[in-house]
Amino acid sequence: MRETKSNGNSSKESPCEILDRYMTVQGGMRRTPERYTILEVVMQMKGHHSADEILAMMPSSFHVSRATMYSTLSLLVKCNLLFEHYMNGATLYECAYNRPVHHHYICTGCNKIWDVQDDSIEQAASKVRTPRFKKLRCSTYIYGICNICQAKLARLKKKMEREKLANMTREEKRFARIGEELSEAAEWFK
Ligand SMILES: [Zn+2]
Ligand SMILES: [Zn+2]
Repeated sequence: MRETKSNGNSSKESPCEILDRYMTVQGGMRRTPERYTILEVVMQMKGHHSADEILAMMPSSFHVSRATMYSTLSLLVKCNLLFEHYMNGATLYECAYNRPVHHHYICTGCNKIWDVQDDSIEQAASKVRTPRFKKLRCSTYIYGICNICQAKLARLKKKMEREKLANMTREEKRFARIGEELSEAAEWFK
């Protein structure tokens, strides 16, 4: 049977129990209702979200300050209940409870993020020698262009051939630059 690699949490313990245990070990941490409500919200969320997006997910009857949100998210990262990523120039959070370690494809055109499970990445990482450094886990971000953006770029290329650059919108110019970077990168990887 194939063993599923998890983030180190025992599935027998609930997220609440994990948080309780962590706070007991740390000592002196208050069990505030805010922390448990944030925990409930992030355990149900799908995908990758910023602290501001999580703030907007909170029940409208419940006021949570930005400072409380940031400190609670960082607490939940320490408990291994959340993954913290730095993607697309922002810090994004993802539920880590009972989730296997995974990797990400990030489209630089539309900023969409895909979760990827690929054992070959972990196998490659396991072969990397790290003297005087103990490896714990490996998380990879592969930046590129998704197929929708590739099709958009191809259409734009045709449009560019027909029209002058001056007639393009700002968004189109941004995409054209990505297209140029992509062909430069392709040269690089040859
Ligand atoms: Zn895209
Ligand atoms: Zn993910």
